[in-house]
Amino acid sequence: VEELLRRSEKLTTVGQLAAGVAHEIRNPLTTLRGFLQMQQRSQKVNTMHTDVMLAELDRINLIVSEFLILAKPQAVQYQTKDIRFTLGDVISFLDSEAHLRSVEFALFFPEAPVLVHCEENQLKQVFINILKNAMEAMPKGGIVTLRLETDQVGKQAILRIVDEGEGIAKERLHKLGEPFYTNKEKGTGLGLMVSQRIIEGHRGTLAIESELGLGTTVTIRLPIGNLAEAAKSDHIAG
Ligand code: ADP
Ligand code: MG
Repeated sequence: VEELLRRSEKLTTVGQLAAGVAHEIRNPLTTLRGFLQMQQRSQKVNTMHTDVMLAELDRINLIVSEFLILAKPQAVQYQTKDIRFTLGDVISFLDSEAHLRSVEFALFFPEAPVLVHCEENQLKQVFINILKNAMEAMPKGGIVTLRLETDQVGKQAILRIVDEGEGIAKERLHKLGEPFYTNKEKGTGLGLMVSQRIIEGHRGTLAIESELGLGTTVTIRLPIGNLAEAAKSDHIAG
């Protein structure tokens, strides 16, 4: 079963999102306030409480950082990039974390460049999100396979990220991409939604297939653009 995260179903309005973020941040803030008040009354520092307070602060920080990615950068710089190198950068960035988790990345990239007109930092963010999810789905480690190819007419880049993790039950699959939907203790449930938005901004698609107990495949399709096309669309947009 392939679940295509669709704009109409999954992407909520800015207002709904803002309400969600406000709500998710108010909970840890309430906890923080409660513990601070207790410490003020008892006049002494309880390390168990400060641990909770620090964890809640970290949580707020994480939610805000993931959410900030959605805010457009000051100057959105679309450039034509060979995404084999974009992926290579992301893999090196995640290398030490992967090592700690006993995860190996297996890369299958084409010989020829795969040129995509993109905001490279945003694409990196997407790849990091998806690869982190893959690693987090494999608590005992394993192999994450990245398969990059182009379609037969050379119009589309197709990236498949395959993990051997816990998988996702059919009845949960349609929930993915909803903001704040997470099954992780420290998750924010924002990664997939943010990734989905970024890919759609690049006129691509993001789809998820999964088999409970076997693993998950995330397929990202992006239009291939050469420099000439890129310049033309810039001209139209500008
Ligand atoms: P988070 O990682 O903070 O939980 P995401 O939006 O990245 O938020 O993912 C939402 C949920 O989708 C995860 O909590 C998990 O339940 C599920 N999920 C995403 N990717 C995978 C995967 N590769 N394998 C299993 N479950 C996944
Ligand atoms: Mg995630």
